[in-house]
Amino acid sequence: MLDSASKTFFHLIAQSRTLKTIASRYGMRKPSSFARRFIAGETVEEAIEAARAVEARGMTVTLDLLGESVASLSQADAATRAYIAVIEAMIAAGVGRNVSLKLTQLGLDVDKASAVDNLRKILERAEPAGFFVRIDMENSPYTEVTLEIYETLWRHGSHQLGVVLQSALYRSERDLAAINAFGGRVRLVKGAYQEPKSVAYPKKADVDAAYARMIKTLIVEGHDPAIATHDPAMIEFARTVARENGVALDRFEFQMLYGVRRDLQAMLVKAGHRVRVYIPFGREWFPYFMRRLGERPANIAFVMRAILGEGG
Ligand SMILES: Cc1cc2nc3c(=O)[nH]c(=O)nc-3n(C[C@H](O)[C@H](O)[C@H](O)COP(=O)(O)OP(=O)(O)OC[C@H]3O[C@@H](n4cnc5c(N)ncnc54)[C@H](O)[C@@H]3O)c2cc1C
Repeated sequence: MLDSASKTFFHLIAQSRTLKTIASRYGMRKPSSFARRFIAGETVEEAIEAARAVEARGMTVTLDLLGESVASLSQADAATRAYIAVIEAMIAAGVGRNVSLKLTQLGLDVDKASAVDNLRKILERAEPAGFFVRIDMENSPYTEVTLEIYETLWRHGSHQLGVVLQSALYRSERDLAAINAFGGRVRLVKGAYQEPKSVAYPKKADVDAAYARMIKTLIVEGHDPAIATHDPAMIEFARTVARENGVALDRFEFQMLYGVRRDLQAMLVKAGHRVRVYIPFGREWFPYFMRRLGERPANIAFVMRAILGEGG
């Protein structure tokens, strides 16, 4: 269970260059290296191998080429080309056609119009091939612009495109009603970022209560919604809402992160649910990895043991 202090702590150390250097050197070095618990690898081949293993367990995938907050248009172009190459590789390999991406990776911090152009280029390759593309939600300075870009593209016909809402933010229930009204597709999460009290519930109990309310709205009124959580109470609640409202199991899916609660993933598959696993990969894995540690400080012990076990 994350509290605000541990989240803040991990967000601070995520900025540390020294830690990043150490982690980058050891985190992925061997098949047993510690970062591999949450990240499929640094290459698309490794991600595809992980996707095949997930699919063999009866689940679907979404691949995320890690990277965020690029600082130049040339980096944004490179990320766009890299995403298109990932899409090509997925088509060639025959794994499920679904990717997740971040707008700051496509240049949102540098120039909004270029980021939108880059997303369009990715969609031009992805849509005819039947891909679903999910825009991940970043921290609150990006909420409004991300939702605005999403709605614009949706209204221009990109209906194989989805977005993410975070129950931690006060605004999200209103955003959910607006997206449901135009038919958009939502992945519901609690929110991975440390946010100020002015925009987000400071208490976890309130984040959870909002999550439960949003589950209900999404399952009853949403369009192919995704309930993305590892929280057994929320998963049980979603199942109950579906049952009580006569919503068929194939009308929504659960989503979980690669390496987290595989037991729960298997249980849901066995119970007849659709389960999608979010598979992150790529060289820029450090910020993602730190967010996962911040969610569950017990993971730190696991990483420390692994680092010591690597023998430096
Ligand atoms: C598919 C998917 C996509 C996501 N996309 C986004 C996004 O676009 N934007 C965003 O802000 N956030 C995203 N998140 C992250 C999300 O916001 C939460 O930070 C994260 O899922 C942890 O919250 P939880 O719902 O699992 O519940 P919590 O209440 O945090 O955890 C519930 C239980 O789940 C288990 N658990 C949770 N996290 C971990 C972990 N790291 N390691 C081991 N066990 C764990 C523990 O048993 C814990 O008790 C995504 C999550 C998923 C599953």
